Amino acid sequence: MSTNHIEQLEQLGAVLNGHFQLTSGLHADTYIEKFRLLQQPSLTEKMCDEIAKKFAELEINTVAGPTTGGAILSFELARQLGVRSLVAESKKNGGREFRRGYEIGAGDRVLVIDDVLTTGGSVRDVIDAVKNAGAEAVGVAILVDRSGGSTEFGIPFHACITLEIETFLPTECPLCQTDIPVIKT
Ligand SMILES: [Zn+2]
Repeated sequence: MSTNHIEQLEQLGAVLNGHFQLTSGLHADTYIEKFRLLQQPSLTEKMCDEIAKKFAELEINTVAGPTTGGAILSFELARQLGVRSLVAESKKNGGREFRRGYEIGAGDRVLVIDDVLTTGGSVRDVIDAVKNAGAEAVGVAILVDRSGGSTEFGIPFHACITLEIETFLPTECPLCQTDIPVIKT
């Protein structure tokens, strides 16, 4: 199933090769253009189906994702699970929170979803927002884990696709030693 997903990602042109500066500031030779994937409802639907089956036993009553890709996926996954979908938005001074009049608190069991996992920062912020609201984060689901499975959240985790993409500090980037221009993502 996962191999199939990777082929689909490549066919969609979502796997780009070159010299990239990621939003984290790190450099890499591969970049996942996640919106090439997120623009395809039929494929994200299939991936969310895999996730929904994986977490079926966890008595989830809420799905939450970070803006922007996570919000799209949260809605589809919640639709399949028959629960509600929340969006966690960035706070001015860092971190995330639930606005929009959402009522979330004790007794809510939340599955967190996001598109591409690189450092896990956004997912951790959503987990913190869930905890800050008094609810429980019971699992994390990711479409593409590009950290090679090295990111831990301390709760059940599932990635539809796992890729190991090496990242470099700009000062240590071998691609910076070549003529390949760096593209800011
Ligand atoms: Zn570089």
